[in-house]
Amino acid sequence: MKEKDCIFCKIANGEIPSATIYEDPDFRVILDLSPASRGHALILPKNHFADLCSLDERTAEKVLSVAAKIGAAMKKSLNCSGFNVVQNNGTAAGQTVFHFHVHVIPRYDNGPVMVAWEPGKASAEELAEVANQIKGELQ
Ligand code: AMP
Ligand code: ZN
Repeated sequence: MKEKDCIFCKIANGEIPSATIYEDPDFRVILDLSPASRGHALILPKNHFADLCSLDERTAEKVLSVAAKIGAAMKKSLNCSGFNVVQNNGTAAGQTVFHFHVHVIPRYDNGPVMVAWEPGKASAEELAEVANQIKGELQ
């Protein structure tokens, strides 16, 4: 399952060189070309899936444990204090490459603020209404 003109298919399968930090039969993990912080990595499945909703079960089951392995290695090797696991779906959410990938972003003490949002406000009625809307689709 590869897509002809997909750059991440080519990188994941070794047709285009990358700064690879980990590889197994299902994934290649590379360093992001435009890192948000030192060590910013991308987990790429070797098969093509456009986004999270298209992922097969095998990939979905494995990807978080790869993220944990990479994050733990970053803490030891880069001495970061923590890391964010980020996964964008759709243009509105900031997705620019439509081959599923997971960002693992090391965070350093006194580093820049990232992946933050302004906490909003919602009444109990609003929360109940939104919950019902989403639950309706899950039944
Ligand atoms: P997203 O915005 O979630 O789709 O993330 C795409 C990420 O891929 C961005 O952080 C880019 O900097 C990164 N990126 C794009 N092309 C390459 C490439 N050829 N090698 C490494 N990282 C890339
Ligand atoms: Zn692809």
